[in-house]
Amino acid sequence: MSAKVVLPVTMKGKTVLVAGGAGFVPSHLVELYLELGARVIAVDNFITGSPANIEHLKSHDHFKFIEANIYEVDLEKPLSSIDGKIDYIFSMASPASPIDFSKIPLEIMRVNSEGTLKMLELAHKHGARFLEASTSEVYGDPEVHPQEESYVGHVNPIGPRSCYDESKRFAEALTMSYHRKYGVDTRIVRIFNTYGPRMRPDDGRVIPNFINQALKGEDLTVYGDGSQTRSFCFVTDLVNAIHNVMFSNDTTPFNIGNPDEYSIRACAEEIIKVLGSRSKIIENPLPKDDPKRRRPNIGKLQAISNYRPVVTFEDGIKRTAEFFRKKSCH
Ligand code: UDP
Repeated sequence: MSAKVVLPVTMKGKTVLVAGGAGFVPSHLVELYLELGARVIAVDNFITGSPANIEHLKSHDHFKFIEANIYEVDLEKPLSSIDGKIDYIFSMASPASPIDFSKIPLEIMRVNSEGTLKMLELAHKHGARFLEASTSEVYGDPEVHPQEESYVGHVNPIGPRSCYDESKRFAEALTMSYHRKYGVDTRIVRIFNTYGPRMRPDDGRVIPNFINQALKGEDLTVYGDGSQTRSFCFVTDLVNAIHNVMFSNDTTPFNIGNPDEYSIRACAEEIIKVLGSRSKIIENPLPKDDPKRRRPNIGKLQAISNYRPVVTFEDGIKRTAEFFRKKSCH
């Protein structure tokens, strides 16, 4: 059993690098570490991240942004202006929406393989602690419910989701190999469905789709009969979980997310209710290999930390809708 997590009171004097730092989840992580006093370097090529996600941070004294594709660029040069070593590296540069899987499969596979390798090499060189942002997709269409970290998964290696699922599985293997062979201090989180401000309105995932449809009074597009389930975590709760894992002393994977499980139809009904929308629900075809049930068992992290998700689905939906409302006004 691992020791209890002790979170730092301050990170003054520490340097954090976030690969994919202009993305939805990572940009919230960047904010957390700036608030804790760290110097933060974000690297992003804006393939799915957005300049708007970090615009408000650009004038911050401790924030540095490097526009680069982590698997193509040698980061040594842009990093040479940084004095001191990097203490923490977060590997979070992968696109993660199912619509990206068909549009940019090779970019996804390269960032999770070559990109992760580059970040691990950097961690090795700097003696930095490294965290791989893996995914519940490593479980594929799970036959075990809820999913525990010991479950090795049920993934179709040639299916439409495989560019993401298999490259994240590879990224986990690479991380463990670097840990075993070179003693790099590594962590792995398996992120379950997450939502909140800074998602792309057109990223195709269920929560942005439903909220934007509800706000416009359009039909909510449930795929299949809507009996498939997901468990949704608000982004600030997820970032808190990532922070707890980074400061644990356990190198094995942790599930992170919110175990509150909804059928997709119930999720649509709830969003219509919370937003007071007049939209109706329609059924569209279910994509191939769409996982039937997904819910994290987060007992492993809870056993060693005070982590618990605190944002209710209702509150999270309101806060996310507010973000999309404001965005559509600009
Ligand atoms: N989904 C849906 N309507 C949409 C978008 C997605 O019913 O407009 C379903 C999708 O088929 C899946 C679930 O919602 O069963 C979650 O999809 P999402 O793309 O958000 O993430 P996933 O968990 O599949 O990676």
